This record gives sequence, structure tokens and C-alpha cells, in this order.
Amino acid sequence: MTTLDTAPAAVREAPVDGEPCVLLKLGEVVLKGKNRELFERRLADNVRMACRPIARVDVIRRHGVFIVRTKDADPATVDRLAQRITDVMGIVWAHRAWRVGKDLASVERAALELMDGRIGAFAVRSRRRDKRFPMTSTELDRHVGGLVADRYGQPVRLKDPDHTLSIEVDRDEVFVFSGGLPGQGGLPVGMSGRALVLMSGGIDSPVAAYRMMRRGLRVDYLHFSGMPFTGPESIYKAYALVRELDKFQGGSRLFVVPFGKAQQQIKSSGADRLAVIAQRRLMLRTGEVLARRLRGAALITGDALGQVSSQTLTNITALDDAVELPILRPLVGMDKVEIMDQARRIRTLTISELPDEDCCTVLAPRRAETKAKIDDLRQIEKRLDVGELADQLAASVQEHRPVYGSA
Ligand code: ATP
Ligand code: MG
Repeated sequence: MTTLDTAPAAVREAPVDGEPCVLLKLGEVVLKGKNRELFERRLADNVRMACRPIARVDVIRRHGVFIVRTKDADPATVDRLAQRITDVMGIVWAHRAWRVGKDLASVERAALELMDGRIGAFAVRSRRRDKRFPMTSTELDRHVGGLVADRYGQPVRLKDPDHTLSIEVDRDEVFVFSGGLPGQGGLPVGMSGRALVLMSGGIDSPVAAYRMMRRGLRVDYLHFSGMPFTGPESIYKAYALVRELDKFQGGSRLFVVPFGKAQQQIKSSGADRLAVIAQRRLMLRTGEVLARRLRGAALITGDALGQVSSQTLTNITALDDAVELPILRPLVGMDKVEIMDQARRIRTLTISELPDEDCCTVLAPRRAETKAKIDDLRQIEKRLDVGELADQLAASVQEHRPVYGSA
């Protein structure tokens, strides 16, 4: 982000007699009619929580925007706040802005200082949330644009400028800023309820978690390790992934189940080519028991149609049959390249690509069934007493609390 601090101190004449703050633009939240109050309150709470490790902030709600203020208004701190807030679901833009008095002289000073040292064509874009301001937006654009052009000799270009100077007139103050940081968009976490993510150490499930958090779900995570027949590496990966994803919601919980012995049982039950699907069904059943305990209303997986043999339409149907809770599959229609791009953007890809021993390798048959018959699966499960097994597995979970930014 370009900020005031990039201007060389020596050329500053009159300092801006305002306060650095973060101006937030909200997305879909503004469309939610009478639920809007609830949405905004949730979002403001989430912003405050995300900022807490950096500074205590006040979040002031105005028509369609939030203003984030902090007592210790040191510009570097405010920059960090703006950066941190871009991870809060429901925010579309975070602008590091100067909050100045509602008079033309203050706006001029802030505009001149912000544009100091910037080479290239620029445009001024004003808007008034308070229409009582004595100048119209167009008048303000022309006036401030002329002033900046005269002072620094840079040309005005309204179409595709190199720099945009924004002036937003509000009820009690004016915000002046240039540029901004794009946020995640979506809905505030917690607005849509709670769900449990089945989290492998792979590329897909972290992206699935991200996409559902962005639709307003608060998520918990469940990971199955092959322990005691594999090492703990997959748990470290799941932990690192959840710690990274925690930036989007805070307070994340990771539940880990040692799954190796149950997998052995599936293998010795003669499941053969159905072993992979039988295992996935057992994961889902265990997830369902845990989700109910956590008051989660859905399970989330990283399945994408046709990506691997367990993800054919027939097999997905056989998976749905195992549980009553809905299974959300936000990646179902995405291809691997799209999923990897998103994983890169949310910074989980490099963690997912670390080597580990996936628990699935414990019982991978030579050829997996692509058209699992539900009746056959039920036969196998009867021999295993899966209901009891799922209860036992759900009772054996270990809980972890990976916190974003912690070691
Ligand atoms: P991923 O990259 O998320 O591991 P994948 O393409 O490897 O997915 P599968 O291994 O068939 O596909 O897994 C599909 C989904 O099943 C995963 O996205 C995840 O939700 C769940 N899953 C698979 N293995 C585990 C595990 N060890 N622990 C928890 N969930 C798992
Ligand atoms: Mg996997």
C-alpha cells in the first residue's frame, strides 16, 4: 500500500492535522435488508477481534462503511491494522485513510500531502455520504484536482490514472486516501452458523474451509492420522494449515483422531476395492458424531467431482448416504488448477505440498472402486459395527488450538 509515510519528510510543509485510520468498504452485507443490523454488528466484532493483537480499536459503523480508529494512531500501526483486516470475511476494501476536519482547508492539506512525490497522471474522486457539504462531488474533484496539478505539475487523467485520490465526505469528518487493499469479500464468519471441516493434509480441504468461512460459516477442523501406523507428520501439517486459516476467523479448533487401527479393521473386514469408500464413510460418520457435539450443522469436504476415483458421482452418492448431516462440497465444480491458485492466494499451498504420510496410504487397494454399491458398503459396515466404532473414534479426539501468528 502506498501511504503518507512514503513521502520524504523534508518536503512536508504543513502536516495533515488529521488522524490516520482505516476506512472499510463492506460487501454483500449492505444488501441484507433487515438482517443488516445483525450482519454489521457481527462484522464489527470480527474486525475488533482480528485487530486485538495489534491494537485496541473502535469500530464505528456508518452507512455502508466502517471506520476503524485507535488511540495510539501511529501510522505504522494503522498500516498493520489495515493489512490485518483484509483477512476478515465481509470486507471488500481496506483503505488507510486520513480522517480530517470537515472544512476545505483540511481537505486541501491532506490532498497535497498525500500526492506529494507521486509522479504520473492522477484523478480525484470525491463522494459525499453527507450531502449537506457546501460543494458537490464534481466541484470538489475539480477544485482539489486543480490545486494538486498546480502544485506538483502532474497531469489529471480521469480514465485509467496512475494515482487516484479519494475524498469521502462523511457526517462528522472527511476521509482522504489514495489506493487501498482488497479484502476477501463474502459474509462475516459466524453469520451462517457452524460446521466441521474434514481436513486432510492435502491441497483441497483447506481451500474448501476457506470458501465456506467466506460464506459466513464458523468452522472447526477434524483430521484423521494413520497413527500408530504412520508418523505424526500429517498432524503437523494439519496443525500448520489450521493455524494459517485461523487468520480468517480466529479461535479455530483442530480435532485429531488416530485412525490407523480402524483402517486395519476395515482392511481385515474384506472390504477390498471398497476399502477407500468404506473408510471415507467412517470418517464422515465420526465427523457427524463430533459435529453434533460441537453444534455443527454440516460437514465440509474438499471433494471435487471426478478428481480422484473416490469422487465419482456414484461414490459421492455413497458418501452422502453414510450421514444425515448435509455434506458441503464447495470445490465440487472446480478443477485442480483453480483450486491450486486459490490455495496459493490464501497461503496454504506450500504447507499442503510438504511431504507427509497420508493415512489413506495405509489401505490403498490396487484398484479402487469407482461405482461403489451402497448395499455392499452396508454389509461391510455391519460386520464392523461402524456406529459403535464412530462413537469410539469421536471420543478419542485430541483437541488443539492453532492460533494465527503463533509459533
Ligand atoms: P485433499 O487435497 O483435501 O486431501 P484429495 O484430493 O486428496 O483432497 P481425498 O483424499 O479423496 O481427496 O479426500 C477427499 C476429502 O476427504 C478431503 O478433501 C477431506 O475433506 C477428506 N479427507 C481425506 N483424508 C482425510 C483425512 N486424513 N482427515 C480428514 N479428512 C480427510
Ligand atoms: Mg487427500
